[in-house]
Amino acid sequence: MKSSLRPSLVNGPFQDPALFVALRWQGDALLFDLGRIDRLGPGNCLRLTHVFVSHTHMDHFMGFDYLLRLTLPRERELTFCGPPGLIANIAGKLAGYTWNLTENYTLRLVVVERHDDRLVRACFRAATSFACEPMVDVVTPSGELVTEPSFQVQSATLNHRIPCLAFRVGEPRHLNVRTDALDRMGVKPGPWLSRLKAALRAGLEDESIAIPGSAMTPRTARELKRELIIEQSGQQIAYVVDTLFDAANASRIVRLARDVHVLYAEARFLHADRAEAEARHHLTARQAGFLARAAGVRRLEVFHFSPRYQGMAQAFHAEARAEYLGETRLEQEERWARDLVAWRDDAATDTAERASGVDS
Ligand SMILES: [Zn+2]
Ligand SMILES: [Zn+2]
Repeated sequence: MKSSLRPSLVNGPFQDPALFVALRWQGDALLFDLGRIDRLGPGNCLRLTHVFVSHTHMDHFMGFDYLLRLTLPRERELTFCGPPGLIANIAGKLAGYTWNLTENYTLRLVVVERHDDRLVRACFRAATSFACEPMVDVVTPSGELVTEPSFQVQSATLNHRIPCLAFRVGEPRHLNVRTDALDRMGVKPGPWLSRLKAALRAGLEDESIAIPGSAMTPRTARELKRELIIEQSGQQIAYVVDTLFDAANASRIVRLARDVHVLYAEARFLHADRAEAEARHHLTARQAGFLARAAGVRRLEVFHFSPRYQGMAQAFHAEARAEYLGETRLEQEERWARDLVAWRDDAATDTAERASGVDS
């Protein structure tokens, strides 16, 4: 089954961070961070429905103007999600221009701030000169940010001497139909399978599903799932930038990024300069590699290298890779880091015990 999320970094590793995630079936797209994005081009910018801003340091936010310029005359809604303060930051950007000829424009910006226990929201409409219109708060469990039929985004708040959001985006689980089971039951595929999948995705397993053209009495979604459906988890991607490497941040990152297919992680410095990385609340390549190993991610992409190392990209990849593969082991130097990798050792032991039938 092909994944519906297609991620790609907009810029090279020494340039502004921005991750474009195309939604294959919808034609829409998501963007994680909003630094310089002119390389994305108008066509891709106009596919965006949601923009996730980790924090509003300039290298993560200066592309707002470019995006606004392109979308201004369009009939659409764009949602921006980020840390507390994003509404004021966007209001400030909008206040920098004059809006006396936009009363017939329909563009609407919705801005969502992730606070501890709630989402604080506001909207800005071109038709009303982008005056800030507060919306009601939404109380949600911490970490939940956006849930749409085609994707979900969760976040974790990290310490970059300001709150900085890390994100995890996932597609819904795949529900694959077993054609051999259809044959065995003597029924034909059709729109009823979409109804079955929709019921399962919505958690309505008691819903009765009729199978047209069949003598069978309607069955519950639960019964049909047992006979017909193979579930696979959908693709998951994590995006982590600009954060201090300490116990609190690292455990939040490991929880957020656990078992993802790909982790995009900043690596601003090489580990030789870890004191400076710590002072500036950034990760080194080796620390990024450690977090990827501790979270059990399947692939690690490091980026957002400091321009001072121009021409040394290979050194970042080599350092991150050695730690990710366990050839170097940061947990032997950082006491707290041992606890973070312990869950993987426990999980490996569990699996080995199950495999060998040991019952302890
Ligand atoms: Zn920053
Ligand atoms: Zn940055």
